[in-house]
Amino acid sequence: MYLTEKIKVKPTPYLDALARESGRCYSKVVSLVRKTHQRKGFWLSKGSVQKYMRHRESELHSQSVQACADSYFDALKSFFQVRKSNADAKPPKHTSRHFKVRWKSNAISHPKEGLLRLSNGVGRDPILLETDIRPKYVEMYYHRGAYFFSLVYKVETPPKQNTGITVAVDLGEIHPIVSHNGTNTRIYNGRFLRSIVRYREKTKAHFSAKMARCEKGSRRWHRLRKAKRRTLDKLNAQIKDAEHKITSRFISDCQRAKADTLVIGDLKGIRDRAQYSKKSNQKIHQWAFARVRHLITYKAELAGIRVISVSEAYTSQTCPQCGNRKQPNNRNYHCLACGFKYHRDGVGAINLWKQVSGLLFNPVVGALAAPIGVRFKWHLCRSA
Ligand SMILES: [Zn+2]
Repeated sequence: MYLTEKIKVKPTPYLDALARESGRCYSKVVSLVRKTHQRKGFWLSKGSVQKYMRHRESELHSQSVQACADSYFDALKSFFQVRKSNADAKPPKHTSRHFKVRWKSNAISHPKEGLLRLSNGVGRDPILLETDIRPKYVEMYYHRGAYFFSLVYKVETPPKQNTGITVAVDLGEIHPIVSHNGTNTRIYNGRFLRSIVRYREKTKAHFSAKMARCEKGSRRWHRLRKAKRRTLDKLNAQIKDAEHKITSRFISDCQRAKADTLVIGDLKGIRDRAQYSKKSNQKIHQWAFARVRHLITYKAELAGIRVISVSEAYTSQTCPQCGNRKQPNNRNYHCLACGFKYHRDGVGAINLWKQVSGLLFNPVVGALAAPIGVRFKWHLCRSA
């Protein structure tokens, strides 16, 4: 599996020149492919474009030039895909002054331990980075006043464990993670995370209202936009940090419980299906379940835990004891058919666990322990 490490570098005229050159190459590819299509009526192949690009003089490594063509043809490929269902789709036409620079494996070398060398065009200076990582490829992009080198490297994943212990995870809006392992339910408290998300939305609205009152493009407007971005970047970093800490803690809890399988409810399409009140709709759209899910998946893989996803339909409404369906209307789930009572957030996780354990619509085995809460703290970290 591949991981990414980012290195932030202050802009220099040389890095600017490389990004500019990459933009020139990318724009050349775009205009070449589009003009040929407009005049001759066919799409050039990637091979022929790359052959053409090989004969242009460039400040970039030849493979970095080819990577520009790769990027455009990737975009073109998704256009061909979209065109099948949407007749109005337009081919990618955007050219850019600056573009990301990619160094492929033959432009990367390691002159000595702890040093990474990225080669550029003939006669051009290489870029040296101090790092122990041996990446497969490196990409440089510009973001908010700095250049970032993202190093993509391979890590060996441990062999999958076989202990027969399964943990089900329910990703929720109120609590980011609720887990169940057959007897115990753990609730990872999301109050803190929710409070930052809410504050972020409030900040967004505050700045948007102020910006709407002044002329677009004016000096005050630009100043507000800058302040808005700075504040939102900071809040987004806090949210990301909290998500990382919660998921790391969850995975280390799974490791301590010797789990070998994680069951995640499949939430795909919840945004399209979400037809609740305006307020809960808004909550669902702000909720980054896909990101939490991604974090859990890759951290589990690094810990040698298998991840399977199952449909989450009705799991939060079905009674784990008798299978009766009921929409809970307060913090507790209370089944009127059999009298089963439990904390509402735990029910989804219990049902997911039962689906995989082949126990759906069978009574819950043994007694269920009361849920355990894990509260978020800034220093909540990996405890295994
Ligand atoms: Zn029941």
